[in-house]
Amino acid sequence: MISSLPSLGRRRPEKAQLPEPYRAYLAELGEHGFAGDIRTDYAARLSAATDNSVYQLVPQAVVFPKSEVDVALLLRLLAKPHHRAVRISPRGGGTGTNGQSLCDGIMVDLSRHLAAIVALDLERSTVVVEPGVVLDELNAFLAPHGVTFAPTLSPSSRATLGGMIATDASGKGSRIYGKTSDHVEGLRCVLLGGEVLETTQLGPSELEALLARNDTIGRIYRETSAIIERSRDVFAARLPKLKRFLTGYDLAHVKSERGFDLGRIISGSEGTLGIVTQATLRLTPLRHYRQLFAIRYHEFDDALRAASRLVAANPGAIETVDDTIVGLAKHDVIWHSVAHLLDDRGEPELRAVNLVEFESDDEQALALQVRDMRARLDGELGSPGGATGYHLATLPADIKALWTLRKKGVGLLGNARGNRRPVPFVEDTAVPPEHLADYIREFRAILDAHGLRYGLFGHVDVGCLHVRPALDLRDEADERLMKIISDGVVGLVKKYGGVLWGEHGRGYRSEYTPTFFGPELYQEMRAIKAVFDPDNQLNPGKLAAPARRQDRLVSVDAMKRGAFDRQIPVETREKYATAVQCNGNGQCFDWNPDSVMCPSSKVTRDRIHSPKGRAGILREWLRLASGAGGEGGAEPGLELVRARSSAPADFSHEVYDAMNGCLACKACATQCPIHVDVPALRADFLEQYHSRYRRPLKDYFVAFLERMLTILVLFPRLANGLMDLAISRRILRWIGLVDTPLLAARTLSSSLRQRGAPRLDLRRLSTLSDEEKARTVVIVQDAFTTYYEPNVALAAYDLLVKLGRDVFLLPMFDNGKALHVKGFVSWFGRRVRKNVEVLRQVADLGISLVGIEPATTLTYRDEYPHALAEDMGFEVLLLQEYLARELGSMRRELGERFPRLAAAPATGWVLFGHCTERTAEPRSQAQWQKLFSEFGGALALENVGCCGMCGVYGHELEHVAESRGIFEMSWQPHLPQGGDAGEQVLCTGHSCRSQLKRFAGLRARHPAEVLVAALE
Ligand SMILES: Cc1cc2nc3c(=O)[nH]c(=O)nc-3n(C[C@H](O)[C@H](O)[C@H](O)COP(=O)(O)OP(=O)(O)OC[C@H]3O[C@@H](n4cnc5c(N)ncnc54)[C@H](O)[C@@H]3O)c2cc1C
Ligand code: SF4
Ligand code: SF4
Repeated sequence: MISSLPSLGRRRPEKAQLPEPYRAYLAELGEHGFAGDIRTDYAARLSAATDNSVYQLVPQAVVFPKSEVDVALLLRLLAKPHHRAVRISPRGGGTGTNGQSLCDGIMVDLSRHLAAIVALDLERSTVVVEPGVVLDELNAFLAPHGVTFAPTLSPSSRATLGGMIATDASGKGSRIYGKTSDHVEGLRCVLLGGEVLETTQLGPSELEALLARNDTIGRIYRETSAIIERSRDVFAARLPKLKRFLTGYDLAHVKSERGFDLGRIISGSEGTLGIVTQATLRLTPLRHYRQLFAIRYHEFDDALRAASRLVAANPGAIETVDDTIVGLAKHDVIWHSVAHLLDDRGEPELRAVNLVEFESDDEQALALQVRDMRARLDGELGSPGGATGYHLATLPADIKALWTLRKKGVGLLGNARGNRRPVPFVEDTAVPPEHLADYIREFRAILDAHGLRYGLFGHVDVGCLHVRPALDLRDEADERLMKIISDGVVGLVKKYGGVLWGEHGRGYRSEYTPTFFGPELYQEMRAIKAVFDPDNQLNPGKLAAPARRQDRLVSVDAMKRGAFDRQIPVETREKYATAVQCNGNGQCFDWNPDSVMCPSSKVTRDRIHSPKGRAGILREWLRLASGAGGEGGAEPGLELVRARSSAPADFSHEVYDAMNGCLACKACATQCPIHVDVPALRADFLEQYHSRYRRPLKDYFVAFLERMLTILVLFPRLANGLMDLAISRRILRWIGLVDTPLLAARTLSSSLRQRGAPRLDLRRLSTLSDEEKARTVVIVQDAFTTYYEPNVALAAYDLLVKLGRDVFLLPMFDNGKALHVKGFVSWFGRRVRKNVEVLRQVADLGISLVGIEPATTLTYRDEYPHALAEDMGFEVLLLQEYLARELGSMRRELGERFPRLAAAPATGWVLFGHCTERTAEPRSQAQWQKLFSEFGGALALENVGCCGMCGVYGHELEHVAESRGIFEMSWQPHLPQGGDAGEQVLCTGHSCRSQLKRFAGLRARHPAEVLVAALE
């Protein structure tokens, strides 16, 4: 465990320490006007050192080209003889499962700037994209035009088209739609030397013209076509007729009856032949009607064997999920949306599910297919090996939820308990579908022989199954086991006529390329590599080594993340468990501005500012701090608290900067399948960091604010007058805070007094009967709705009174969330213990506690138990949770007097969700909706991301630009237009309301304000 912060100063990797070839190359890049970003700081390099695989390789630098011109410059310089020692690798979303993009040279990240949808041609049904466009983003853009890019993959929310092309990705529906390369019309690919190869389907005369060219492009065409001519027959004879067999250097399909298309060897080449800068993709009409069967089985083997029967019905996709995944899903947020669709209460027990989807443009045709399927299923229900039951999902939301469950498979497995975690290395094998069940039986026998846990899911219709055996790669024995299992599975796959890389490409599994293709074809692949990259500078070691060189292929024995993680002491790993467990699946890179996941990552487009980036940099800090040595080194010892500038080279500052960009919205804590909780990790880090480096003044201001407010609120007008002075604003700005709100002129206590609200008297409450206690509720005040917006607290009070409750307010105390956010962890712990004593006095009476402000209320069920290291034994309910729970009894008690909503704006009300509340309590928004409907009104729910304020974050000068950026990205486009927009928009969060006021000039209301005003 780290007891005091070590300085990681002197040996921090710096630009000056770059190996000479890289220093010279990057210098020349700058001199030639490279317009993109060049990063050599350790944080940026670390964020590109991992993907979703088990490997870790820190590049020398990461560059982010701004345009194709930048890419061409990169590759032109690379070809110069004096830069021969430099290696580069392109990267997109970094979701590769086998280290496909990892490289010890320069990482060329195309996802940041080369991410435009360039042109849509609906007549030709094509779209032109840059490589950094994310698949879901493209399909969201295409949907209104009635078309889609058909190939898909599970991480569609963050995988890029460039990465998909380079791995020839495919997924659900590939039996019908094929792989990515089947939908590529043309590519622009920058070659070593900087020339741009434009690929398309060429007719004989066009090919002739290219073959005759006296330049690099002509040479490439001549040499590749010669290789293709001599090897086509060998390919045809040797390769099994399996849809998923050939990814990478697809020599077999360059020449076809349609023409000659070099795009076929660029697709799937994993960045080893050039960098794709633009792609013209073929589009598929969107099917408007779709229905999904969730078919239950008692045994996984039954589900696998059912696949060949199900294929006969010609569905769009058949995917399977085993009981391990279903079991894990029960503890995940996803369960709320699928439980009713997988109703497994019946007998026999649910052990596997097949998801079978039908889609069509013709409603009648779809109905016939579904009817036929029903008849087949009804016929086999109860028979040995048959389905045990099924549910037909017809609602889009239900269908989406079931597919989300399937997509979450990997993440859910990653969240299993124990040190052994599911790891990808044999995760996408494919065999002829008719052999799948037998093959899996033998596969399982290999894993069972080593006593390994695993979950299974995948595309049974094409014989591709995902298996991630659970290993602890920090344990050297398990690391050896990984190789043993790899070799075993390779043998098995060959026996069944399948392939090891049925979906995810080769990456570090490239060592098996000669085994699968045989020496003759492998030599042809080496020849292809030599045509494009004779000196092995482009993503070296992957797929094939160039002919005439002695280079080796990368191997599954390469350096793994586990080898780094094992250097962190066990107790430190336990304390920072989620940072260590992050498996890099990249779910936190979600492109969608309407999803709550990581606003800082979205607005900065910087991977460091994602949960994965933060977890990764923290892991390295822990490793270095534990004295493990390495690039950063470590120098333990006690020092006085000092300024950051006194040790500018300390790596800890890079960790601080990564953490400082976090809004503490807590989306990662629930939306990440591993529940990587960055705010909790950050709090612990900050406490350590500030034991050495001075805290900014504003941290103290923020930490003391709750306490100060209790005094200022005694003279609100005076306090506001002072706060509003130009000099005060300037001082606040100087310490780093802007747009700080003013106190309400009228205090909550005076309004309550005016209403004759009773004071809380615990002794009196203890004498109440059980019935009276059940009717009593105690509001736990918070600084936001008591000091700044007492109108909201009053509305909550009035609403509860109107609904027949006896309402009391707990005397104000500091909740302490700000202490936690700013990393005053010990101080926060003391506050928690004190507050819990107070809260417990009420809870012990059996009286409900209710909070109004979501962010503070939720600390009682998250940070508080964490600080206490135990369950508090009681809960502080959100207002809507309490109302939802009590509504039935309120209705009974009030009878005729139960109020109804009298009036609503003509355009209706719409609730803009609070991100922390939505993620921590997924039902909380629907609860408001239900309440409105119980009162006879309607409330729409707007699907938005984070508003960008998040407590203090949006008020910090250093974050104002990002705060505005997040608001403009995630909220602004959803705001209703017109004069009564303020009437319509409801928000439960003080931060959200403040942000709306600040950036949209809207005075949004809390739902309680609306209800209390409109109920009669
Ligand atoms: C949870 C999970 C589930 C997955 N499920 C699927 C699945 O269903 N189907 C599937 O096919 N894959 C799947 N994958 C694997 C992975 O998502 C795919 O390989 C994807 O295509 C990679 O895209 P990316 O943008 O993340 O590429 P990266 O991982 O960044 O790169 C992948 C490869 O592409 C190269 N590359 C990237 N951009 C370019 C470019 N512009 N020019 C040339 N080369 C380039 C890189 O060098 C690297 O070799 C899954 C991964 C995860 C984490
Ligand atoms: S932080 Fe979570 S979502 Fe992000 S890569 Fe790690 S495990 Fe995946
Ligand atoms: S708390 Fe929010 S901003 Fe911070 S890392 Fe998690 S998701 Fe990103």
